[in-house]
Amino acid sequence: MKIAIDGPAAAGKTTLARRLAEELGYLFVPTGAMYRAAALAKKRGIPPDRARIEVREGGRIILEGEDVTDLLSSPDLDELSSQVAVDGRVRRHLVALQRQIARGRDVVMEGRDIGTVVLPDAELKLFLWADPEERARRRLAERGGDYEEILAAIRRRDERDSTREDSPLRPAPDAVILDTTKLSPDQVLAEALRLVEERLAKLDR
Ligand code: C5P
Repeated sequence: MKIAIDGPAAAGKTTLARRLAEELGYLFVPTGAMYRAAALAKKRGIPPDRARIEVREGGRIILEGEDVTDLLSSPDLDELSSQVAVDGRVRRHLVALQRQIARGRDVVMEGRDIGTVVLPDAELKLFLWADPEERARRRLAERGGDYEEILAAIRRRDERDSTREDSPLRPAPDAVILDTTKLSPDQVLAEALRLVEERLAKLDR
């Protein structure tokens, strides 16, 4: 079974996808981290549409043979990754890699275009939503910083991700939309697991 989790910045996609993958024993594929690695490649003078990016167990990201996972959650890569993600050549490169990773395996893949473009046949598609203010509060708790600045950066990224021509952020027609504004990570996980059970039961029939 393939599970696609899409949604805007800081909606809790990575947290949910990682925990869901652990619960189910599926491979966790954080595609946002792949775009972040492409942005890091660009910063290092490597063409981002040709960078060698691999995803290992636990969502570790390898760039040109180096494990760069711990370098990817910086505010400058928040911004740079969303700029790099507008480039059609980078998208084609990463989408091809993502499909290759998912071929013939059970995966939980999170991003912006997984249900619409990367895995349109995914058996379960979730679209995680939360109000921008709540997402800014979560980012603040996670990384610290200035609330107003974080909120502005989230709004800027939402705008760019939703209005770009190539694969804009939007729910697939068959996605289940989960508003997590008032939910804890445990509640979101419980709801996602309930939906997985429901889907698995249908597939068995
Ligand atoms: O999810 P995360 O914040 O790590 O993603 C970083 C950036 O990568 C996003 O702002 C978005 O522009 C881009 N992205 C994308 N398509 C994906 C995943 C991420 O365009 N499937």
